[in-house]
Amino acid sequence: MSNDGYNPHSPHLTPEELQQRFSEILRRHFGGLGAQAGGPAAAPEREPEPEEDPIRRFSLTPKQVRAHLDRFVIRQEEAKKVLSVALCDHYHHVRLALEGHEQPNYAKQNVILVGPTGVGKTYLIRSLAELIGVPFVKADATKFSETGYVGGDVEDLVRELYRRANGDIRRAQYGIIYIDEIDKIAAAPNVQGRDVSGRGVQTNLLKLMEETEVPARSPNDIAGQLQAMMDFTQRGRRGPEVINTRHILFIVSGAFTGLEKIVRKRLREATIGFAAAPVSIEDDAAAMRQAQTADFIEYGFEPEFIGRLPVRVFCHPLSPDDLFQILRDSEGSIIRQYEQTFAAYGIEVLFHEDGLRAIAEKAAEEKTGARGLMTVCERVFREFKYELPSTHVRRFVVTRELVEDPPAALQRLLEEHDREERDVMRRLVHDFAERFSREHGLRIRFTEEAADRLVTLAREAGSPVREFCASHFKDLQFGLKLIAQNTGRQEFELDLAAVENPGRTLSDWVVASYRGEAAAGDAAPKGPDAPNP
Ligand code: ADP
Repeated sequence: MSNDGYNPHSPHLTPEELQQRFSEILRRHFGGLGAQAGGPAAAPEREPEPEEDPIRRFSLTPKQVRAHLDRFVIRQEEAKKVLSVALCDHYHHVRLALEGHEQPNYAKQNVILVGPTGVGKTYLIRSLAELIGVPFVKADATKFSETGYVGGDVEDLVRELYRRANGDIRRAQYGIIYIDEIDKIAAAPNVQGRDVSGRGVQTNLLKLMEETEVPARSPNDIAGQLQAMMDFTQRGRRGPEVINTRHILFIVSGAFTGLEKIVRKRLREATIGFAAAPVSIEDDAAAMRQAQTADFIEYGFEPEFIGRLPVRVFCHPLSPDDLFQILRDSEGSIIRQYEQTFAAYGIEVLFHEDGLRAIAEKAAEEKTGARGLMTVCERVFREFKYELPSTHVRRFVVTRELVEDPPAALQRLLEEHDREERDVMRRLVHDFAERFSREHGLRIRFTEEAADRLVTLAREAGSPVREFCASHFKDLQFGLKLIAQNTGRQEFELDLAAVENPGRTLSDWVVASYRGEAAAGDAAPKGPDAPNP
């Protein structure tokens, strides 16, 4: 018998006893791993704080939900309306169920969301989840495999909800699971390139959508399993074990390319034998909108699967004008992000309407919906983000010109700023001269060239202009007073040479003044290009 007290041949150990033994072994061999509740294996780290239950208070109306969506999502009017109703239905139903008044034959309002990429499908659902205060998980259907061996297991989605709910099983149980690219697991045998395990994944998802219990910790999650054991041995508490999927809302989405053809075919066939003229649906989006259960089945979905998704929502492509409105009006507009990024460096950005329009037009060319806005903005502002923080530019305006040629605009901005700044700095140099004159009763003046050189030197030294001048010419008044005594001269012009080497220049002048030379302290004694005073 070993010291661990572990008898592998003991026939009647309960799971709890096994857990206890196992954690004792761990503690012995890994230096008290069991005491490190905050270690990397700990998820969740501590007893979840019981958060206020948003569903028991759920009292929103579809119009209130819609009003919330309007703040973020531009257009997609019909989708906003249908989703608001579905969400309210669902969460009122859940609330009633929690209160013990569940309607017996209630059909859950799971949703199919049809629409191209980047038009706000995820954004709609995420905004809804935030409004209601429920955990939200998004995944791509293509990530799952039938067996869960390769790729993910659909049950992981539920466990992810649990994680996002900070280990609060109750909140996880009425979260929202959003599965994109669902059209890729349609298993129509005649459609090429479809995942062969699509049908199997549909079956697995169907189980979740109906009602099942998912272990809160995956059998493959060793860390999670260990933690469960620790919890048990330390607190005598068995971690929450299973998550019931009864009230989890499922939303699936996809572009469903080709669905419009199936709809058209059905509509054509429906008119055969009738006198009515065949229905012609010009645009694909309009045809798509008429999709019915039969069309989805024809597309390659199991009837039971489609049957569990009673709410059908269509999102339309976004026009350049829609994209412009997204930029200007959405509370989640990407330009807010850019404003913040620049503000972090003390730089203010003003977006002109024509600039926003130009961004929207370019984004539309990307054909990735509103995602194109991010691509375009990234491209347009890349150099600005890199260059401006290390300049003194404090604000700039985003115009169409800037969007169309960012490098040229940046160059102009920097040059213009440089010009303005140098101009101010030159005026500060002249101001120094005036103050000096007042203070010492001797008039000094800088040539433009000299002032310009002082600006450059002050910049290089990184000092304020007046301070720089004061220290650069710190003994000037003594020399000039001597010259004034010797020659009676009251006005002095400082040129480039005087700036380059003030000590030398001054001593030359002083020497000359003793000799009675006229050049000493003359208003424009040196340098071929000194301007006439
Ligand atoms: P998808 O339809 O592919 O799910 P998303 O909802 O993820 O697209 O859109 C990507 C991003 O584009 C969103 O996060 C949002 O910032 C922006 N966006 C897309 N559509 C809209 C819209 N209709 N109104 C406002 N912003 C939108």
